[in-house]
This record gives sequence, C-alpha cells and structure tokens, in this order.
Amino acid sequence: MRTVVAKFGGTSLADAEQFRKMRRIVEADPGRRFIVVSAPGKRFDGDEKVTDLLARCVERAAAGESCEPTLVLVHGRFREIMDGLGLEFPLEAEIARLREHLRGEVNPDWVVSRGEYLSARLAAAWLGYTFVDPEWCVCFDADGRLDAAMTRRTMGAALRPLQNAVIAGFYGADMDGRVRTLSRGGSDVTGSLAAAAVGADLYENWTDVSGLLAADPRIVPRAKTVPYVSYRELRTLSYMGASVLHTDAVMPVTGMDIPINIRNTDRPEDAGTTIVRKLPKGETKYPIIGVAGRVGMSVIQVEKVMVSDESGFTAVMLDILKNRRLPFEQCLTGIDTVTLVIRSDLLAPCKDELFEEIQRKLDPDYLGLTERLSMIAVIGEKGTESCDANVRVLQALARAGMPINTINQGAGKLNLLIGVPEEKYEEAVRAIYDTIDGPV
Ligand code: ASP
Repeated sequence: MRTVVAKFGGTSLADAEQFRKMRRIVEADPGRRFIVVSAPGKRFDGDEKVTDLLARCVERAAAGESCEPTLVLVHGRFREIMDGLGLEFPLEAEIARLREHLRGEVNPDWVVSRGEYLSARLAAAWLGYTFVDPEWCVCFDADGRLDAAMTRRTMGAALRPLQNAVIAGFYGADMDGRVRTLSRGGSDVTGSLAAAAVGADLYENWTDVSGLLAADPRIVPRAKTVPYVSYRELRTLSYMGASVLHTDAVMPVTGMDIPINIRNTDRPEDAGTTIVRKLPKGETKYPIIGVAGRVGMSVIQVEKVMVSDESGFTAVMLDILKNRRLPFEQCLTGIDTVTLVIRSDLLAPCKDELFEEIQRKLDPDYLGLTERLSMIAVIGEKGTESCDANVRVLQALARAGMPINTINQGAGKLNLLIGVPEEKYEEAVRAIYDTIDGPV
C-alpha cells in the first residue's frame, strides 16, 4: 500500500463542516496515513484566522492589555468545531493553560502554535488517529532555524512505527525544548518534512483552490489549472507571486522525488496540480505552463564606450549594490552596457546616493533610470527551449503594440523575462496568455 502524507490548510479546517470533508477525504484512501494540519482559518470574507487571533493575544500581553476578549474568540472557534462534531476534548483546560502562560513570561511562538496544536488534537480525535506533537520531532537549532536533516531522522523515528497519525503543522522545538514556529503558512513545510521523513509516495496539500493557475485569475479570469509543474517551474511561479504553496515546502521532498499534489477540499474530484521533479512518461504537457509577473520594478542602465573590453566593470557595479545590501532581480550585460532590474521600494530610499556612487566610481557615458516597470515571466522548462514559443510570445506583444523595455533569457531557459511599463502589465499578461493557451 502506498503511503500518503495529506496536509490540510486553514480554510480546509475552518469549521465542523470542513472537518467532515477532511475525514471523508482521508477515509477515501487508506494510504492517507499521516495527516498534517493548520490552525482553523477564515470561514468567510472578513473572518479572522485562529493564528491571527493568537498573535493578537501576544501583542496584547506585551502591551499589558487584557487578552480575555481574544481568548474568548479562540475558545469559541474550537468549541464550535467540537460541538458540531460531537467531540469530547478538555478544551477549557487548554484555554486555561494558554491564559496562564499569557500572564507570565510569554513565548510568542508557543502562543501562536496553539492553533495548530488544538486543531491537531481535535483532528486526531475525529479521525481516531494518534496525535503527534511536532515539539518532539520538528527540530530547530539554537538560532531558531529549522534543522531539516535532524528533523528527517527524528520525525522518521517518531512516525514510521505508527499506522497513522495527525501531526500539528507550523511549529517544532529547539534543543532546549523551547517551541519555535516556522514562518507564516509553514504547515506546508511541516507536511513536506513529514513526507520526506516517512519516504511517502505522495504529499497531498489540501487547500481551497484546485491547483496552480496558468495566470493570475484577476487578470485572466479563464486561466486554466496547470496539471503538472516541475519543482523549478514552481519556484519561478512562487517567486513571481503565485502563493498556493509556501516557498520552502518544496525543498524537503526535492531530493527524494516525492510528488506534491495540490488539491481542493471543497472539490475533491478535481485532480489539482502535481508538482514533480520530472514529468511522468507519456504525459503531454503544454510547453509553457504559465505567465506570472510583478509590478514595482526599476531599471538602471549604465553605458560606457569600450567597457566590454575591460574586465571588472560589472563587478564594481555589483559591489556597489552588495555593500549597500541592495538585492537586484536581474543583471543584463550587453555591449558596453549593464542593465540592472531592482525593486523600486528597495531602491527608493538610497536612489540619489547610489547614483552618485555609480557616477563617481564608474564615470559612465550614460546613466539612466526607468521606473514603474513590471517584469513578466513566461514559464516553462520545455516551452522556452525552442525559439518558436518565444517568437509567438513576442509576436503577441508586438500585435498588442507593447513597448518592451527588457528581455532576458539565461542559458537555463526556464523562463523568459520581459519588462513592460507597469500600466501595460495586465494587457501584456493577457496577450501572452492568449498565445500560450494551448500547445505551442
Ligand atoms: N496557521 C499558520 C498561519 O496562518 C500556519 C499555516 O497555516 O500554515 O500562517
């Protein structure tokens, strides 16, 4: 029998009805032995996540204010789930423990982790599975950084002997036993760590969408779900702003080749998106899997005649950025020119000083700045291999009369990055989507 790790996100466990759906999904496949859970999320627009309520308790305690009104809300969320499912659980004692902790020396991580802890306790009772506290097996170092290698060993030892288990997401503990949390959305990472630890055949990530879309649905409402995406393509998509999965969630399973399947708890019949290292044989795939982008970019252009024949010009340029701890998005070098793409919000505070320094150290013939640009990534390991796809993308942009500021494709060819003015961003995404919406 295959082993599946199934992680359920906050909206998938927001109330008793969602817990019921979760159990139906788990029971539909005996392979779903290890279940990782988030804290209950939003039930409707404007609702609050349990984790946000707990974070507010921390803030109030630090300000010397009463946590009671917020604790009542936290209590209410779990009570509603328990009553809706007819579950017995000593919730009041747990809330009292939380109240007590907030009156003393507060560990903020412990407080915000209680959402996942209680969610996992209830899910374990509801499924009849063993509860596993990540305090015992998700390991952090003294600086609060996740120790993935140690976690894999410890978690493997904790989970392998069990027939099934529910593991709370989002937290673990350091060597001193102090609870530490991952960054927000970190239960995705716990799921991935668990999948690696038990050597799962599949890591399912159950959420509120049916997978990754080939474009932002606010720009392209008819954007299709991408059936398969490679780990590398996913990384590019996440970098460019798609936020279905925590960016760190891929790392633990990459080396082990465990596919991640994004599924929709409200539509379990949908196949979702499967994230793989390599496409399964015989599976056809659109060569370009999607288009994504970011606005708020600036481009610095430096030109100096004959500089291509000198070495070190670009190095000086990058050194200036490094010393200012100013990261850049892209660095394009041409004949006698260097172009840097930088996030405008990071550039703004030091723009004048930076330009003065470039002028002084490099004495360029031309130093220019273009602001309010967007960067569009056309993503696809296969698609961008042939120039056919690129031709079609550029033709589509030409037809739309699109002014193109930069074009960048490295030898890796995973994506083609195109800079267009910010006000043309959505139009450009739509034009590109129309051309990639089908095999190229
Ligand atoms: N509950 C945490 C959050 O809201 C972690 C998670 O859901 O993955 O960020």
